[in-house]
Amino acid sequence: MSVTRPTRTAGRLVGLAVAVLPATQRSRYARELYAELYGMTPLHQLRHAGGLLLHAWALRSALVATHSEETDMTTTTKPLRCRLGFHRWDERENPETRERYQICERCDAYHERPRAAAGTGSASTTNGGMF
Ligand SMILES: [Zn+2]
Repeated sequence: MSVTRPTRTAGRLVGLAVAVLPATQRSRYARELYAELYGMTPLHQLRHAGGLLLHAWALRSALVATHSEETDMTTTTKPLRCRLGFHRWDERENPETRERYQICERCDAYHERPRAAAGTGSASTTNGGMF
């Protein structure tokens, strides 16, 4: 049994559907969607390619949204002042352990406070005087 090749019309409809996709994704989807036509009857190919054309804008929107989410995740950077070590520390306390810590308001950097600075008085020198 021979495999039915895509008709010229169905191939052109796929080409039109793919034309609205972002340029970086276009060739991949062109190959993938064109390959889907193989084995279908000519009428089924036309219906399938027409459906692709109708949903091309929805696919484009999804691809653009996904791409921008990925870009957001990969381009998140520390503010310059934090990269240079000038954090804006905010002193906080863990309500359960009562341990104090600092967290940067700009980049969420975490810095544990030494026990001696816990504000419990000068009598707490149990850490060996390291701090
Ligand atoms: Zn910071």
